[in-house]
Amino acid sequence: MKYISEYRDAHRVQTVIDEITRTVSQPWVIMEICGGQTHSILKYGLEQILPKELELVHGPGCPVCVTSLEMIDKALAIAAQPDVIFTSYGDMLRVPGSDGDLFTVRASGADIRVVYSSLDAVKIAQENPEKQVVFFAIGFETTAPANAMSVIHAQKLGLNNFSLLVSHVRVPPAMHAILGSPDNRVQGFLAAGHVCTVMGYWEYSPIAEKYKVPIVVTGFEPLDILQGISFVVKQLEKGSYEVENAYSRVVSYEGNQPAQKIISQVFEDCDQKWRGIGNIPMSGWQLKPEFKSYDAADRFHVQRIKPTESPLCIAGQILQGLNKPFDCSAFANQCTPEHPLGATMVSSEGACAAYYRYGRST
Ligand code: SF4
Repeated sequence: MKYISEYRDAHRVQTVIDEITRTVSQPWVIMEICGGQTHSILKYGLEQILPKELELVHGPGCPVCVTSLEMIDKALAIAAQPDVIFTSYGDMLRVPGSDGDLFTVRASGADIRVVYSSLDAVKIAQENPEKQVVFFAIGFETTAPANAMSVIHAQKLGLNNFSLLVSHVRVPPAMHAILGSPDNRVQGFLAAGHVCTVMGYWEYSPIAEKYKVPIVVTGFEPLDILQGISFVVKQLEKGSYEVENAYSRVVSYEGNQPAQKIISQVFEDCDQKWRGIGNIPMSGWQLKPEFKSYDAADRFHVQRIKPTESPLCIAGQILQGLNKPFDCSAFANQCTPEHPLGATMVSSEGACAAYYRYGRST
């Protein structure tokens, strides 16, 4: 197929739905890791047209949602300092910290700018040598190569007024944490196509083998997601647990090796806190010792922040597939996209925001 519209074609979609319906014989719980896929599932009403035996639960693959509250509070503290230009992707500005968000800090006079790439932040640092320029380096494996590149670029330019507030997270350790939990309900996974575009899918075989769950690399259009579900269901019904690629027009087994190389040049594995979930061992990336001078958390001495989460928010349960947004007592009343209590109501990839936007209440 050549055009995006073909991946939304109703006849092709119905053909795959029919195939899934013929295959499924018992209830199964399938998790899509990525918030972009959650958004597509809600937007196109895919769960409602699937056989009732299939339950889709929504994983932690929304970088805005899982950036720890402690890290948001660090961002607020750094951004409020004089002579700092704090740069970030736009959707991070509305994520609630313990006491306000980056918009609140900007309204108080801080210089906070939305950028579309960490390289834009390097350019701002070049143009403002009297200021400290900080980029909020959040995200999964998808944003890490550009963020690593920005550090290399700043080093080549000899900039000493550029730094990253790093909060990178990785998908495979999160899958281990979900599947290894005694409360786990997930029986099959849709892996995120864009993450696998960078990293390939060689990391998933040990996970499929250890927990005996099928994992299928999947894209973002309705037909992509349904084909991924079809592959997972066939495996579940057969009792097999392999890693398959239903997004081969984009993803290769090895992934983008130059991108992986620059990530490993600049970052190293570290433990990471996930908002609402807690610490997941070796699930993040931090700057390697030779690049520590670009670490904003060190440069601005904001290591000892004690965050406070809204007691109503159950986003962590939702991101592990244990609850749905409508199970939260605050959903669509105290918590809305205009007044979010938790990060999953902020990001367009957040499950709560997707349920709210598309009117899903059961
Ligand atoms: S509806 Fe709001 S408070 Fe409830 S889980 Fe979602 S983000 Fe948290």
